[in-house]
Amino acid sequence: MITDLRLQDFRSYKDDSFELSPGVNIVVGPNASGKTNLLEAVLVLARGSSYRATDAELVKFGRPWARLDGHNEKNETRTVKLVIEEGQKPAKTYELQGKTYRRMGLAQSLPVVLFEPNHLQLFVGGPERRRDYLDDLLEQTTPGFSTLRRQYRRALAQRNSLLKQPDKLSETQVFPWNIRLSQLAGQLVRARSQLVEDINKNLGKLYKKLAGSRDNVTAIYESRWIPEHYESHFLKKLETSLEDDRLRGFTSSGPHREDLAVMFGGHPAQSSASRGEVRTVVLALKILELKLLENARDATPLLLLDDVFSELDGKRRHALTDYLAPYQTFITTTDADLVTKHFTDKTSIITVTKYR
Ligand code: ATP
Ligand code: MG
Repeated sequence: MITDLRLQDFRSYKDDSFELSPGVNIVVGPNASGKTNLLEAVLVLARGSSYRATDAELVKFGRPWARLDGHNEKNETRTVKLVIEEGQKPAKTYELQGKTYRRMGLAQSLPVVLFEPNHLQLFVGGPERRRDYLDDLLEQTTPGFSTLRRQYRRALAQRNSLLKQPDKLSETQVFPWNIRLSQLAGQLVRARSQLVEDINKNLGKLYKKLAGSRDNVTAIYESRWIPEHYESHFLKKLETSLEDDRLRGFTSSGPHREDLAVMFGGHPAQSSASRGEVRTVVLALKILELKLLENARDATPLLLLDDVFSELDGKRRHALTDYLAPYQTFITTTDADLVTKHFTDKTSIITVTKYR
């Protein structure tokens, strides 16, 4: 929990401090007043970087540095400092209780669930955002997963760059990368499919409750080979498709081509569910994220809801509020009444206004 927050030259803020409620914090202001910036500050303080911008973009335009300071309920301090450096990436340091870190690992970060309108598009368009959704969540729940993800990306890029130099390419050159890639892929796919299994334990029930319907909803990780024996199948495929991959200039199968599907009574959501149904699935996934993080980590997650309240209908808005009670929550809105009427106690209103 964060009890107070100070923003200095962070985005549109010059130097502002906020007292935060342990329950629901409703951030109210017109468009472009700094609501999302404030939520982003909470996220950066908790997790070290933004979900929508590079570090340099977080510093107020024309300023040399930005700084966030917060305290928790035990009065422990938490600071993020960003210093712009000419022609380089900004220097970023974290200070937790006076101790300085260059990287914010899982042990230093606070668990956060962010829900914003873009997430409602999870089942629209290509599979990349769904793979990222799973991988981002795994980074927050599973120690070592972010390293695994990085290693897989790097091995894939190496193999792909070899494929793009066809004159020099020999099987002996690619072989070690096939081995490395298939080994990392096995671990990656097993982590993803375990996560989807965990999601499935509660998704159907939760969906029924939120939608008040009897539809059977299940999530499926669409893996090309069974996760238990992924390495050997994938390795064989990498070897047999070498010629094909060489012509295309990239690796044509593997975890980087797989997808997460949600089925409505046997039909994929992407093609058959209504917009409202898909929204409700995403809402259910977000609520499950809170539980998954809570089980995986020592701390209770923070919940950031940017603009989604107005995107949900009254019934789902009401259903969502039923699940918020245990979590420190931040809700942005341009219309305070829309949100406050759903809560009775432990809410505080934070009014933001644009700097001139
Ligand atoms: P909406 O209701 O439209 O979502 P909002 O209140 O969430 O609006 P923000 O996204 O927080 O608005 O942005 C507020 C303002 O911050 C914008 O006018 C934007 O131009 C400005 N801004 C963004 N980044 C920076 C920066 N690095 N320095 C200064 N101002 C910035
Ligand atoms: Mg906004």
